[in-house]
Amino acid sequence: MISARMMKMSEGGSAIRAMFEEGNRLASLYGRENVYDFSLGNPNIPAPEKVRSEIIRIAEDTDPMELHGYMSNSGYPFVRKAVADNLNTRFGTSFDENNIIMTVGAAGGLNVILQTLLNPGDEVIVFAPYFLEYGNYVANFGGVLKVVPTTEEDMFQPSAKALGDAISEKTKAVIINNPNNPTGVIYSESKIKELSAVMQEKERLYGISIYLISDEPYRELAYDGADVPYLTKYYHNTIVGYSWSKSLSLPGERIGYLVIPKEADDAQLIYSAAVISNRILGFVNAPALQQRLVAACLNEKTDVEAYDRNRKTLYKGLTDCGFDCTYPSGAFYMWVKSPDADDNTFAEKAKKYNILFVPGSSFACPGYVRIAYCVSHDMILRSLPAFKKLAGEYKL
Ligand code: PLP
Repeated sequence: MISARMMKMSEGGSAIRAMFEEGNRLASLYGRENVYDFSLGNPNIPAPEKVRSEIIRIAEDTDPMELHGYMSNSGYPFVRKAVADNLNTRFGTSFDENNIIMTVGAAGGLNVILQTLLNPGDEVIVFAPYFLEYGNYVANFGGVLKVVPTTEEDMFQPSAKALGDAISEKTKAVIINNPNNPTGVIYSESKIKELSAVMQEKERLYGISIYLISDEPYRELAYDGADVPYLTKYYHNTIVGYSWSKSLSLPGERIGYLVIPKEADDAQLIYSAAVISNRILGFVNAPALQQRLVAACLNEKTDVEAYDRNRKTLYKGLTDCGFDCTYPSGAFYMWVKSPDADDNTFAEKAKKYNILFVPGSSFACPGYVRIAYCVSHDMILRSLPAFKKLAGEYKL
């Protein structure tokens, strides 16, 4: 028999994955071109050409023993140094290879740092709506998730007051995700300063360290020149988790990193323990070839303009139909108010028109839905008449 915990999780499943499967089912019935699947955050832009050429070059030029062998559990020193240098150039930070741990994507990095920090019963604060896997990652190590809602009136920006109210002497970490999945909102510099001030005040009050875990897979996806603040500059106990899943369209390759700055309390201890976490969680180290690849592609960029075009077309199309949307500043998600009292019912009704998106309940925020626009522009255009019919059901 499997464990009680996994039994519960298996029964729950993932609503996002279920949608994805439903998309495949509808496609087999009606043809792929007649199904408008906006469920998954799987980038539709191919990885830059340099990714392909570098994979070939690395495979051809590297000694096979070196190419495929084990290395330090934190990753290749030259890769970590290249990452640190790149961050320093871009953000004026002063990291070196001893601040970087290469990880198996952002998900791997989050699990590594949570295992490193959490004692059973420690609290981790997240702002809703949030990427629901955070709850599972925190539960993996006996942590307790505390959810602080954001509101439409505050344009889904986190409230420093609400954060302050949620922090207790048991708070170990706060996770923020900027740009945000699912709202597409970017937390502004002034907001980050407010949050930092509250965390510092509470650290002093309770005599504890509160770590700010900045989950940044969407950092590179910001529109209209929007600035995404680099959090280590605002708060000493910041740990950054990054991934190339979205920024270079490499989600299946599982590659990212953690930054543990020297300013963080117990930085050295955390770094050494996180390296062990990487090993004992079974990752051992981030994939060797992918490490070499990202080091060679640090200046490569995905086609943000293509996502921007999708953003504009979808926003205009949906608002013209009468839907109430948050105009995204980053990531590739449109956060739409459900015209139905129940967002699950709304998502079900959309299926009648072969439209698939994810109910906000899957992000701990009922009353909204998430539409992932990392899809072809053509599909967005083709979907608009179907959205019009869906809007008709609600007399929008
Ligand atoms: N964090 C957020 C907010 C995400 O949306 C995702 C993936 O969609 C992840 C983490 C996991 O990213 P990765 O594929 O790098 O593990």
